[in-house]
Amino acid sequence: MRSAPRTLWLLALVTALAAAAAIARAPRERDAVFQASTIGALLAGVFDGDTTFAELARHGDFGLGTFNELDGEMVAVDGRYYQVRTDGRAVRVAGTQRTPFAVVKWFRADRTLSLEGAASLAELERLLEGAISSPNVLTAIRIEGRFPDLSLRSVPRQTRPYPGLLEATRRQTTFALREVDGVLVGFRTPAYMADLNVAGYHFHFLSRDRSTGGHVLACSIGRARVQLDEARGFRLVLPATREFDRAPLGTQSQEELDRAERGRR
Ligand code: ZN
Repeated sequence: MRSAPRTLWLLALVTALAAAAAIARAPRERDAVFQASTIGALLAGVFDGDTTFAELARHGDFGLGTFNELDGEMVAVDGRYYQVRTDGRAVRVAGTQRTPFAVVKWFRADRTLSLEGAASLAELERLLEGAISSPNVLTAIRIEGRFPDLSLRSVPRQTRPYPGLLEATRRQTTFALREVDGVLVGFRTPAYMADLNVAGYHFHFLSRDRSTGGHVLACSIGRARVQLDEARGFRLVLPATREFDRAPLGTQSQEELDRAERGRR
């Protein structure tokens, strides 16, 4: 069997070429972010959407968002979707549940970096600013490691008549975790998309044992693996509802969004 090594080598080469060709032929849609509704609509109190999680799962295996009635924080990793309510427990999402705002992608890392650590979310964001290839490209970010400190939040289910997002997040529950392993699921959204999504960085967390998570308000991070996946496409679906149609969109301030999503009060 003297020819075996050469055969294996050729097989490996052919496999590599086939993989490269598959990437080259991958439809652009496969590399696009899929988003349900807009952050502006959420700010305006449009807390019910018509996109199911079964539909979302057909457009990505990674992402974040929320649920109808603003019932907690959503985080998706490796094709599994989780809901984190105000008790901090992560539970699997049913395909029939619906979302008023979600952002998902088929996560395929374009680049993997190792991070020595960051003392704060601000420092982590500064380091990521030096790692992204362009501020103009919507980038999915997956960071796996150990977190000495995490400040997370979730929002309680809202009842009609709905308040705006800022008012709803005033009733948020925050919880602190220490020395926990897990993954940050996030996006860096270009400034020019500010009416559609949270401009800048937006992270949700899921623990490695998949038992807890939430929207990240603050964190420190130890040694970690950072994966960046640039989206060269964007697909937006909008709720076919009277509330969405009548919402005063395009009028919200960035300051209001900062207070709702970054805890800057
Ligand atoms: Zn969030």
